[in-house]
Amino acid sequence: MTFTELKLINPLLTALDKKGYKIPSPIQQQAIPHILLGKDIFGCAQTGTGKTAAFALPILQLLEANKNPNSRRSIKALILAPTRELATQISDNFKEYGANLGFAHTVIFGGVSQLHQVNALKKGVEIVIATPGRLLDLMNQGFVKLNDVQYFVLDEADRMLDMGFINDMKKVIAKLPTKRQTLFFSATAAPSIMKLANTILHNPVSVTVTPVSSTVSVIKQSVYFVDRNKKRGLLKHLIKSENIDHALIFTRTKRGADKVAKDLNADGVKAEAIHGNKSQGARERALKGFKDRAIRILVATDIASRGIDVDKLSHVINYEIPEVAETYVHRIGRTGRAGESGIAISMCDREEAKYLKEINKLIKKEIDVVKKHPFV
Ligand code: AMP
Repeated sequence: MTFTELKLINPLLTALDKKGYKIPSPIQQQAIPHILLGKDIFGCAQTGTGKTAAFALPILQLLEANKNPNSRRSIKALILAPTRELATQISDNFKEYGANLGFAHTVIFGGVSQLHQVNALKKGVEIVIATPGRLLDLMNQGFVKLNDVQYFVLDEADRMLDMGFINDMKKVIAKLPTKRQTLFFSATAAPSIMKLANTILHNPVSVTVTPVSSTVSVIKQSVYFVDRNKKRGLLKHLIKSENIDHALIFTRTKRGADKVAKDLNADGVKAEAIHGNKSQGARERALKGFKDRAIRILVATDIASRGIDVDKLSHVINYEIPEVAETYVHRIGRTGRAGESGIAISMCDREEAKYLKEINKLIKKEIDVVKKHPFV
């Protein structure tokens, strides 16, 4: 199937062509036709499946089809996301896919001055991508009016709940027109998620893409058993011997992330750490540097990594094995995106072996153990 067969309009096809996307991903194939027909969607899909384009493309197309050149700009599409990083990425996607259409969009999140965001809103935008807290704040100050919203997206609803946004979310939803189209995305269909979905969706079409365990099968995974105090040496060795020039490394703690980044820099490998204690500016700079490849290695904690989207990330390295098996799947899902293959390397010390067992159980296979290495 092609994007043309999905009946997307030329301005979108041209933008997709520029991105180099040839084939719609499964979630795009399944969701786009329903969204274009005006249906509500319950989408069970993780980051990395192409879900952003699955909602952004049809929303842009519907906005274009219903546009009224004589009316003032007002917010027609609202996308809620759990983190600023994810909101920024969604915004970047709207910018790219909508490059040949005339819509204005803006992104709203906390932790930075509201001035710039308020100015953008005052100028008028059709599309707002926001995290719930700051959006609510700006709504209460009268800078955001949601009366004209026709398309509402809740992205990563499961994480929204995990992060305690339920009340903020409900307050935002209460201000939306009841007559609207709602697109709901979540990586899981846990009972709390279904309950929330049922309250805000109207006769939704469910679309589900490949469950976690099969998504990871395209990723080449291996594990090195190594003492904790030899991990630094092994990492340096791997980066050199495997010619790794762009990798995301995961640690369990913020301090761990700082330490690994510091060690790498000391060993002559340009690295930056991102985690919750870093300022928004520092996080954005690190992410940008990594995307532009000025920084070879980004070291992140799990929370900070949520939604990080770097095209064609070749390697993910688990400096520490996560305690929760699902986290492993989320981590390695950052590589081998949208059907491409990637490499995930894990370092496991004695204490972590029990976590590895759980992971093998979850992904229903034994991760290959590299037996011969200089740090055994
Ligand atoms: P997402 O799940 O929205 O975070 O998207 C995952 C990654 O896949 C992003 O880097 C997208 O730019 C990319 N992507 C989305 N759709 C396609 C497609 N049809 N073909 C190739 N790459 C895609």
